[in-house]
Amino acid sequence: MYDVIVIGGGPSGLMAAVAAAEEGAKVLLLEKGNKLGRKLAISGGGRCNVTNRMPIEDLVKHIPGNGRFLYSAFSEFNNEDIIAFFEELGIPLKEEDRGRMFPVNDKAQSVVNALIDKLRALKVMIKINTPVKTIHYQDGKVKSVELETGEVILTNAVVVAVGGKSVPQTGSTGDGYAWAEKAGHTITELYPTEVPITSDELFIKEKRLQGLSLRDIELSVLNEKGKTIVRHRWDMIFTHFGISGPAALRCSQFVVKELKKSKKNKVTMAIDLFPDKNMDVVHQELTNRLQSEPKKAIKNVLKGYMPERYLLFLLYEVGIPYDVTFTHLAKEKIRQLAEKIKHFTFTVNGTLPLEQAFVTGGGVSIKEIDPKTMESKLMNGLYFCGEILDIHGYTGGYNITVAFVTGYVAGQSSSEKSKK
Ligand SMILES: Cc1cc2nc3c(=O)[nH]c(=O)nc-3n(C[C@H](O)[C@H](O)[C@H](O)COP(=O)(O)OP(=O)(O)OC[C@H]3O[C@@H](n4cnc5c(N)ncnc54)[C@H](O)[C@@H]3O)c2cc1C
Repeated sequence: MYDVIVIGGGPSGLMAAVAAAEEGAKVLLLEKGNKLGRKLAISGGGRCNVTNRMPIEDLVKHIPGNGRFLYSAFSEFNNEDIIAFFEELGIPLKEEDRGRMFPVNDKAQSVVNALIDKLRALKVMIKINTPVKTIHYQDGKVKSVELETGEVILTNAVVVAVGGKSVPQTGSTGDGYAWAEKAGHTITELYPTEVPITSDELFIKEKRLQGLSLRDIELSVLNEKGKTIVRHRWDMIFTHFGISGPAALRCSQFVVKELKKSKKNKVTMAIDLFPDKNMDVVHQELTNRLQSEPKKAIKNVLKGYMPERYLLFLLYEVGIPYDVTFTHLAKEKIRQLAEKIKHFTFTVNGTLPLEQAFVTGGGVSIKEIDPKTMESKLMNGLYFCGEILDIHGYTGGYNITVAFVTGYVAGQSSSEKSKK
């Protein structure tokens, strides 16, 4: 008999087990794979983006999927606590651009190992290669956990930390949703977020821009009336199927939602190559450059003004021959080029599937979870944390923060509950 059984050895489960054991509970951690923290070890490009050092208000803004639900949890344990926690474990962190925190040694595995060492020090019983089949409930409360082998383990509290459905080869195969439904929970529709976007535009199909990265641009998702739904300023890359890179990943969930609304199965996106300059400034700069070398081919005059492949592409789109000179260029074409630089629109028709997304949108409805404890409002002693919840953030350490914070709160409160 255990006080608390934590199912899943990702960041949320590892932290839940630590917090429960620190509170004095007898804890069992069950992981179906042969390793703990598999997804955590590949996050942040293999360096583990442990958290993000932004003020709480900004953190919440970067968690567009129900970030506001986390205010109570953040008052218990937040990003600064995560930083202090790892420093105490001997893993100093460093801050990079946009508040992203990484281990100084850039090694994700060291973060995972530090958590495992902590669990061992706290005498948590860890069982890997141990898939859980289901959870049994009785009289409105948790009774036991049944393993795939048929073994049944009694417990007072269960923390479900099995993740979502993205990148299933890391172990997150969505097993927990059925256990939640069995307890009466609603699972909101699952969808891919932080995922590359697909397009069947001819220039994508013909791979004319494949491999081209645009830095510090503004990428927008537009509604059917041409109004901006969301805009993100960062880098993007054209791929053989569409677009990717951080700005595209951040826009992806809005594309998914807009496609659901749209009858056309297409959504328009726009690229602003120079978000700090307005159209008149760009027009003026183009004119000045061309005027200063009126006999030189336009493609050569403007070469240093923007990435060359993008320049040639936009010249083609506007119908300006590459070799035309200022003297022979119809002047309205300069304005048209400025417009394309500031607002190049193209349609997209979907995203890569959920399995290839960084993060799962949707999940166990937060309406049925107590934000102070992460306990189910429907089943006594049942707790949820991490990506299985209907909470999702942008990449940049926000999801891992959600996992650690909800894991900590679930672990701590499940331990308290199990002693009552
Ligand atoms: C390539 C990649 C890069 C990422 N980069 C970032 C990033 O930079 N910043 C960021 O914020 N987020 C990032 N994420 C997302 C982040 O890693 C996840 O949101 C986070 O790992 C979720 O933690 P979790 O504990 O909820 O679930 P998971 O990490 O998915 O862990 C769930 C665990 O439960 C186990 N499990 C599942 N079913 C069972 C079962 N039946 N029995 C026992 N165990 C089970 C699984 O094997 C797994 O170990 C990235 C994701 C990927 C795939």
